[in-house]
Amino acid sequence: MRQLSAHDIVRICEWGRDKHALDRALVLLRAASPGVDPAALARLSIGRRDALLLELRAQAFGQKLEVLVPCPKCRERLELEFTADELRVPAPETPRSPLEVQGYALDYRLPDSLDLAALAHLKDAREARARLLQRCMSEARFQGAPVPLSAVPGSVLEALTARLAEDDPQADITFRLDCPGCGHSWRAAFDILSFFWTELEAYARQLQREVHEIARSYGWTESIILSLSAPARRRYMELISSG
Ligand SMILES: [Zn+2]
Repeated sequence: MRQLSAHDIVRICEWGRDKHALDRALVLLRAASPGVDPAALARLSIGRRDALLLELRAQAFGQKLEVLVPCPKCRERLELEFTADELRVPAPETPRSPLEVQGYALDYRLPDSLDLAALAHLKDAREARARLLQRCMSEARFQGAPVPLSAVPGSVLEALTARLAEDDPQADITFRLDCPGCGHSWRAAFDILSFFWTELEAYARQLQREVHEIARSYGWTESIILSLSAPARRRYMELISSG
């Protein structure tokens, strides 16, 4: 993957301000993967997508991630530190479809960005989960004979839900937390996209401040200023502030 440039970050944050998280994720991957078919990126499993976002984030801001999580009981803010490697979870290397359980055999694939986009308008989480499973199953057989997908019983669908999570573990990263203030323990989810996006927006604001100051002092265009290296921009900012 190509590292995001300062130009990319400013443009993508501008474009993504009013966009859905799914679209933000895809536009980041497209910018970092020139020459890769955008349709293929949209077809990546959510875990594979998140693994790439994690890699892109490490390229942009380094291996270390600092996360602030408020305790749901006492609101104390816990500071956590991870490395990108600690957040990587290996997935099974070979496809494990079909799932064979209770006499049924289900051919399935992993959920991707297009599936989540198609279901994003649904308010009811149970309906969304059921529709997601329907989209991810391609064929069902009971004792060897084809059956309609709508005839697959709930207990088999539960097994499929568990299998999808096992096959794409990077899609659902959670960690256990213990609050030192009140002793409360809970599991919190880590969403690489919202974490990375917040950092990108902060960095884009910093870049715009730098463009504003440097352009005012030197008369250079935004494009030229964003093409400078980060250390060069910093040096110009220091020169400006020292008068
Ligand atoms: Zn607490």
